[in-house]
Amino acid sequence: MKCPKCQNMDTKVIDSRVVDNGWSIRRRRECEFCENRFTTFERKGTTELLVVKKNGEKQLYDRDKLKRALMLAFAKRKIENEEIESMINNLESEWTTDRTEIPSKEIGDDVLKALKNVDLVAYIRFASVYKSFDSLEDFQAFVK
Ligand SMILES: [Zn+2]
Repeated sequence: MKCPKCQNMDTKVIDSRVVDNGWSIRRRRECEFCENRFTTFERKGTTELLVVKKNGEKQLYDRDKLKRALMLAFAKRKIENEEIESMINNLESEWTTDRTEIPSKEIGDDVLKALKNVDLVAYIRFASVYKSFDSLEDFQAFVK
């Protein structure tokens, strides 16, 4: 990990802590050249997941996009931010088991399945407009 101050490549880890219910590691690092200290967060490698859209196009999975859609589905419903985070964490760990690509439709279906167990209103909101991960942007426009 490069030092953000002097760009030196040699930095050592001086402290590691598991955070976010075990899903992330927070590391304190020190640059061996300028002794600058900085913090990094490392999440389980979900960023390598490719979403295959209906038209065959592939795009990098975007956790924030999914989270924004879920926040909208849960608008004015009683839910904690951590519950949404852990729902996404569970889904992601399912999606990234033994594979690096997933059809966008499967993402939508799995989210619906998860919502059904948690909040029916959020489920219906999501179901009424959702077609796939492709259509999450349309969904956001609709809810607004
Ligand atoms: Zn440095």
